[in-house]
Amino acid sequence: VLKVVENLGVSYVRGADSYKTKLEGELRRLKFPYRALAEDDYEARRKDHISHFILRLAYCQSEELRRWFLQQEMDLFRYRFSQLTDGLMQKFLEYANLPFEAISEDLKNELTNDLCASTPGLILPKVKEQMFYKVGLADAVDLFRTRRVFIKDGFAYVPFKEIDAILLNNYRTKLSKALALTARSLPSIQSDERLQPLLNHLSHSYVGPDYSVQKNTGKISLEQIDALSMKSFPLCMRQLHRALRDSHHLRHGGRMQYGLFLKGIGLTLEQALEFWKKEFIRGKVDADKLACFLLSGCPFRHSDPELLKQKLQSCKIPPSGITQILELVKGMHYQLACQKYFELTHEVDDIGFSLNHPNQYFTESQRLLNGGRELKKELSNSGNSQQKNNNQESMNSNLTPTSSNTTTDTELEGLEAYFTED
Ligand code: SF4
Repeated sequence: VLKVVENLGVSYVRGADSYKTKLEGELRRLKFPYRALAEDDYEARRKDHISHFILRLAYCQSEELRRWFLQQEMDLFRYRFSQLTDGLMQKFLEYANLPFEAISEDLKNELTNDLCASTPGLILPKVKEQMFYKVGLADAVDLFRTRRVFIKDGFAYVPFKEIDAILLNNYRTKLSKALALTARSLPSIQSDERLQPLLNHLSHSYVGPDYSVQKNTGKISLEQIDALSMKSFPLCMRQLHRALRDSHHLRHGGRMQYGLFLKGIGLTLEQALEFWKKEFIRGKVDADKLACFLLSGCPFRHSDPELLKQKLQSCKIPPSGITQILELVKGMHYQLACQKYFELTHEVDDIGFSLNHPNQYFTESQRLLNGGRELKKELSNSGNSQQKNNNQESMNSNLTPTSSNTTTDTELEGLEAYFTED
């Protein structure tokens, strides 16, 4: 959820209608109980609380993690609070035990002109409808610094619609202190062997769908890969495919990544890919290594900007698109840069999902290209498909492990042989 919040915070203006609509859609998709208070769903709230506190433990460990966590939690809080009705907002203030006192009608009448003059966007008749809170200056720093509230005798008179700024400040201070305290008690928590592995990996582990279990198995054959690589592969896998085609060789890390990716998109040929199984398919842990933020070969993260520009030009991305992508890369928003690449290569305005995994890119691409249907079998290079089938068959027989000591390298050569023929 927080990763989604981060992505949307970069692509949209926080608080704008488009941001809210998009975030609502994403939270629904992730089944996040974002209206827990409104729905009064105890179980949902309990889960929300537990996950928040687990993340506190995982993200208190360094200054950088703390800053990231704070920022995303603040954005999520702002959105959730904005979704509450006035009644629920009031209930929340009481529930959170915030000592903001609503001023009496008499005092409001007395101060009407001052309140109206000092509160931007407020007209006289609206003052009567609006509830005002008397808040200590320390809690309203942002508001009086930007001259948005009336101040008298050391108190700010804050209209209800501005109370979220105060709440956010308050929340930031509390959460920041809590994270520092948690960090201090971390050594004793880490001695608990049940928690330690979880905490060590949570901040840098992939928690999205497991693409090593693929529904499309059997719907893709090797002969389709060239065409698919042009249309539906993310840039990282397109690069690996090209490198294998051009130099007939991939370094070990690249082989691992490409193997996992191919398995994830549903490549079969049981015998031909026996080596993938031996080499790459060791279950979820290995598949997780393919998550975008862990991938060592992500061109957006690891390429020199000039080189990336050339790569994008060779993919026929228009100059304005290249500029946008390079801007995102400069801001270290690598996955958003890849999302932009997706939008440009698929000619859509909005990618409609939050990218975390190369196989997700492929699946979404196919869904889009096939009009929302399941992956369809499409044969490329139909002219020489017979020849390829023959090659494939011979490759299958070449690669059938005839004894338990068949080496993965021999098998790899077989598969690479496939890629070397044009
Ligand atoms: Fe590949 Fe992910 Fe990088 Fe895109 S963001 S190029 S899918 S690793």
